Amino acid sequence: MAIDIRNAGVFQGPDAPTDDDLATCVHCGLCLNSCPTYRVTNLETESPRGRIYLMTQWKRGQLPFTEELARHIDLCLGCRTCESVCPSGVPYGRIIEHGRAEVERLRGFDRRRTTATLAMRTLLAHPGRLRSFGALTRVAQAAGLTSISSMGRQLPKLQAPYRAPAGGVAPAIGPRRFRVAFLTGCVMPLMFPASHRASVRLLQLAGCEVWFPPAQKCCGALFAHNGDLATARSLRDANEAAFAAEGFDLLVVNSAGCGSHLKDFYGELGPRTRDLFEFLAEAGLPEPEREIKVRVTYQDPCHLAHAQRITRQPRELLTAVPGVELVEMPHADICCGSAGIYNALEPAMSARILDEKLDNLLSVDPELVVTANPGCQMQLLAGLRSRGRAIPVQHLAELIAQAY
Ligand code: SF4
Ligand code: SF4
Repeated sequence: MAIDIRNAGVFQGPDAPTDDDLATCVHCGLCLNSCPTYRVTNLETESPRGRIYLMTQWKRGQLPFTEELARHIDLCLGCRTCESVCPSGVPYGRIIEHGRAEVERLRGFDRRRTTATLAMRTLLAHPGRLRSFGALTRVAQAAGLTSISSMGRQLPKLQAPYRAPAGGVAPAIGPRRFRVAFLTGCVMPLMFPASHRASVRLLQLAGCEVWFPPAQKCCGALFAHNGDLATARSLRDANEAAFAAEGFDLLVVNSAGCGSHLKDFYGELGPRTRDLFEFLAEAGLPEPEREIKVRVTYQDPCHLAHAQRITRQPRELLTAVPGVELVEMPHADICCGSAGIYNALEPAMSARILDEKLDNLLSVDPELVVTANPGCQMQLLAGLRSRGRAIPVQHLAELIAQAY
C-alpha cells in the first residue's frame, strides 16, 4: 500500500549522505554474501547493493516513497557487515541511519514502531524511570507474569541492578596508571549487572581508577539506529556535558553498540572512546591467577567487528586465560539477528537469521558462548533456550574476570 509520495528534501539534514557518498557503491556485489538478510532471502532488494540503489533513486526523485520501499529499509539490521567488506568504502552506517530517519519522518503512524519509539523515549532516556521499570519487572518475573509474552520470555532473569561505587569512583588495584570514565548505559545495569562488575574489576586490575559521571545518560545509540536522530542528538549533548565535569584519560565502553555510536556520533567524546577489550589489550592485564577449563566460542558483535573493526583483541584476551579452548564457529562475525530492537520489530526475519546463527554455533559444540554486547547475549540465550540447549552465554569480561 502506498502511504505517501514526498521525495523533496530527503537526505538533507546534518551529516546526511550526499550523492557522492551514495555513488561510492560501484555495484560489485562483494558484500552480498556477507549480508544476513541477503543470505536468508537471496533477494537483491534485501542486499546492501539493492538498498543503496533504492535510496539513490529515492533521493534523486526517481522512486516514490512507498511502504514497499520503507520495508526494504526496515529489514536492514544496520549490522554494517557490508561496510567492513566493501572495497569501495561505502559509508553504509551513515546512509542507513539517515535512510531510517527519513522513513520515520514520512511514514506516520505504525503501531509497532511508534510504540517502540515512545517506550524508548519514555524509559531509556530517563534513568530513574528505567530503574523503576526494572524493579517492577523483577516483581513480575518472580510472579511468573513475564512468561506470557514473547518479549517477556526474551528477558534474562533480572537481579539487583549494577550501582556505581560510593563516591562515583572505583580505585585502581595496585599502582594507578590511568583514570578512565565508564559508560554505565541504559539497560546494561538492569539486565547484565555481572557484565559491569566484571568489566570494572578488569579495569581496576589493569591499573585504572574508574570514574562514573553521575549525570551520564543513555548514549542514544538505539534512538539513532531507529530513525530518531533528534533524541539521539539531545542525549549526545547531555553526555558531552556530563563527561566534561571531571578530567579523565579515556572513556571505556563495554557494549559494542554504544561504543560504536560514541565513536561515530559524538564530537569531543568520540575520539576519546575505547571499547573495553581494545583498551585492555593495549593497557595489559596481570597474569591470570587461575585456570578455567572450558570449550568456548566467541560471537563477534556486529558493532565491534564491523563498525569498530575489533576482532583480534577479544580473542587474544580470551585465549590468554589458561585452560580456555577457543573453538571458532563458522561466520562468527555475522549478525545473530538481535540488532538493538530489530528482533522485536522484525521477529520473522530476526528468527530466520538466528536460526542460521544457532546452526553455526552448535556445529562446534561449545560449553560456553561469549560475546560483548547485551543484545547479542539476550538473543543467543533466547535462541539456545528455544532449541532446548542449556549452554550459558556470558559477556567476555565475566569469563576473563573469573581468572583473577
Ligand atoms: S556496497 Fe561496496 S561491496 Fe557492496 S556492491 Fe557496493 S561497492 Fe560493492
Ligand atoms: S547493514 Fe547488515 S543487513 Fe543491512 S545491508 Fe548491510 S550487511 Fe545487510
